[in-house]
Order: sequence, then structure tokens, then C-alpha cells
Amino acid sequence: MVHAFRGQLRADRIPGIGAPAADAPDAPVGHELDASAGYDVMATTLQWRPDSEGVEAVEKHAWTPCHECAQPIPTRRDRVERGGELRELDSWSYVCPFCGATQLGSAENSVDEQSVCHGCTAALDDGPACGACGLLRGWAVARCPRCQHGQVVCMPHLAVMCDAYMLQCVTCEIVTYSFCIC
Ligand SMILES: [Zn+2]
Ligand SMILES: [Zn+2]
Ligand SMILES: [Zn+2]
Ligand SMILES: [Zn+2]
Repeated sequence: MVHAFRGQLRADRIPGIGAPAADAPDAPVGHELDASAGYDVMATTLQWRPDSEGVEAVEKHAWTPCHECAQPIPTRRDRVERGGELRELDSWSYVCPFCGATQLGSAENSVDEQSVCHGCTAALDDGPACGACGLLRGWAVARCPRCQHGQVVCMPHLAVMCDAYMLQCVTCEIVTYSFCIC
């Protein structure tokens, strides 16, 4: 498989991964609304999700084995955006939710400029991953609004406070979309 970088997450350095803490707040700090009124709590926003939308199961048949632990996991196809045009590459990136192995498929994959790690807030250098916790540039923890499990996903615009992402929860196997607000 094509890859530009492989590494390992130090999940103990990143708050919010895995099962929720017993004292976890219902909403991100600074949000007045709570999740009870038809909103899903995303990384930095609340997103309206009416009950009528139903739930979408993950497409588990499309998951591929982690290079380290061989568990099938959701991956993100690398893409390059230029002038509003999206081109998908023949490579995939992921952070394994089971063993923390990381893979960056392509060095160029349309994540915004970022100076601070979204996982542990350490300053980033020019490398593809955080030197302190191993999290890939452009990736962050998303909490599943259905089972509250914390999982690392790509949030390519989080540096500009847009928490667009797709979470395929490995615990409850439901897909959650957080839409781009850019
Ligand atoms: Zn793994
Ligand atoms: Zn970090
Ligand atoms: Zn879940
Ligand atoms: Zn966006």
C-alpha cells in the first residue's frame, strides 16, 4: 500500500479518546445548548439532526486492515483540492482506533495550515505528525453522539474552527457527518 508516513499514536497524551470519562461534559466548553434538543455535539459545533433522518450504518465491507494490528478499520482516501476542484488520490490515511498505528497516505492531502496539535496542543514542526503525541496533522478526536466513544478522525479545516468530518464509529457502527461551515 502506498504511504508517505507511518507512526504511532500515544493515546494517553490525548484527552477524549476511547470511552467517555464519567465527568465528561455534555457539550464543548462555551456552548450553551445541549444535545437534548435534536443537536449532535461535534468537536466545536452543535449540528441539527432531526430524528426523521434516521441513522446510517457504517460500510464495514469497505474497511481495510490496519498495517499494525490487522483489524479492519475505517480509512480516509487522500485528496487534493485546488481551485475548488477535488481530486482523489490512490492512497489512504488513518489512525487505528484499536492500536493507535497511524498512516498518512500522501504528504499532500488538503488539510489546512496548522501550528498546534489538535490532540495535545503541543506546537507542531513541519513533520506530518505531532512530536509529542504522534497525532497526524489535521486529525482530531471526535466524540460519537450516539455512544459517546472518542475516536480520531481527519478534520481538515479544524485550524479555522470548522469541524467538518465523517466519523465511522467502531463501537456502535453508526456514521456521523459533521458538515463544513467554511
Ligand atoms: Zn491497528
Ligand atoms: Zn499532539
Ligand atoms: Zn458510536
Ligand atoms: Zn470547512
